[in-house]
Amino acid sequence: MYIAGVWATSGPTFPVTNPATGEEIGQVADGGQAEARAAIEAAHKAFPAWAGKTAFERSAILYKAHQIMLERRKDLARLMTIEQGKPLRMSTNEVGYAADFLLFYAEEAKRVYGDILPSGRSDQRFLVLRQPVGVVAAVTPWNYPISMLTRKMAPALAAGCTIVLKPAEATPLCAIETFKCFIDAGVPEGVINLVTAADPKPIGEEFCTNPLVRKITFTGSTAVGKMLVGKAAANMKRVSAELGGHAPFIVFKDADPVHAAKGAAAVKFLNTGQACISPNRMFVHESQVEPFLEEFTSRVTRLRAGNGLEDGIGVGPLINEAAIQKIDRQVKDAVEKGARVLAGGHRLMDNGLDRGSFYAPTLLADVRPDMLIYREETFGPVAPVITYTDDDDVIAMANDTHYGLAAYVYTNSIATGMRAFEGLNFGIIGINDINPTSASAPFGGTKDSGLGREGAREGISEYLETKTGGFAV
Ligand code: ADP
Repeated sequence: MYIAGVWATSGPTFPVTNPATGEEIGQVADGGQAEARAAIEAAHKAFPAWAGKTAFERSAILYKAHQIMLERRKDLARLMTIEQGKPLRMSTNEVGYAADFLLFYAEEAKRVYGDILPSGRSDQRFLVLRQPVGVVAAVTPWNYPISMLTRKMAPALAAGCTIVLKPAEATPLCAIETFKCFIDAGVPEGVINLVTAADPKPIGEEFCTNPLVRKITFTGSTAVGKMLVGKAAANMKRVSAELGGHAPFIVFKDADPVHAAKGAAAVKFLNTGQACISPNRMFVHESQVEPFLEEFTSRVTRLRAGNGLEDGIGVGPLINEAAIQKIDRQVKDAVEKGARVLAGGHRLMDNGLDRGSFYAPTLLADVRPDMLIYREETFGPVAPVITYTDDDDVIAMANDTHYGLAAYVYTNSIATGMRAFEGLNFGIIGINDINPTSASAPFGGTKDSGLGREGAREGISEYLETKTGGFAV
């Protein structure tokens, strides 16, 4: 825990485990409501001086943090693999992505422009000023345990806000090392505060009720997000929420099915399917199903699951036992209702994998709307393929979900791609593109996938308040 410039060195702790081996890898301070309150007070005290720095001064610190994070890339990636499980190459990519936000917002800090507006009165001038909202309380998830921090902290700091962050209980070590990058870059005492905790509830309660907090930013499940947004609304705090997803992946009649299958295999199993933008329903036109499934099956069966520190591992463990149970339930339900298992379909127990939470990369064909997996977010290495017959119907089928985060489309027609882009009710659409994300592009969803956008110009505006000045002249 890091509050008011001081690392906690005593008090209760909780263990952190490696999901690939079940081994304990560290003990972390176990904070509660009192610590959250102290951290908020420290952030409040530090706010005027931080907001009063020039954008150029804040930018210089973010540039430095970017440089430090890249210098530490190898060590951060290794820690991430041990704590969260993703293969080392993917962890290395994530650290790069995390650092991108530092660089982007070091630049964007200097572009928080105001406006001068025309008035209807000749003796009046309007000025619009954008100022930092104040103390930001952030709650982050375990699936991207470094980049989800920088995606919030970099724009908040660039805007002039101060921060209290509570990382997920499964990945506090990554949060601690991320904080060290900021601290070593020269972020002053009290400007960033870290509260680690085994039980998130009292911290969340303090974040939502303490009047000093002006903004809550959350990434995690829809259930927790709705609860926090509801509580924050009662106290009229600004909120951003990046929540669950149930991404469709459409292979149109005019797509190249082999190219689409390569994309599907690459994106579905990233982070063991534990991503809010992971494809969860693959709609494949009936004329494309055979070649698509042939290529997809051969790629899925070649994927090796195991400890992400070993060479050649394509899929790491799931975060915990509960994740295995959820996936197993969805797969069993689908199979009982007639889905065909083309790969995987079971937990992995051989070669020492029983010590961690491993599930075989799984491909299900003939998935239908009456199956749980058609409606529920999966968050695991299972690709459900649905055969459809009419291109005119598939957009409506894809939109038939209460989520609205990401969608993917494969087509060789510009017109089909454009119609899908316009017609899909999701915040992020990949058109023949499995990675439609970047620090410079807005990320976020509609409906139950959340509120607000992160990254890009939009990302910093979430931390800015608009002030109007009417000047009589
Ligand atoms: P998941 O089910 O994927 O772990 P959660 O929404 O439970 O997703 O977790 C995302 C983040 O939300 C984590 O940092 C977790 O500690 C936090 N969280 C969970 N419950 C609460 C709560 N009641 N108040 C505040 N934060 C919470």
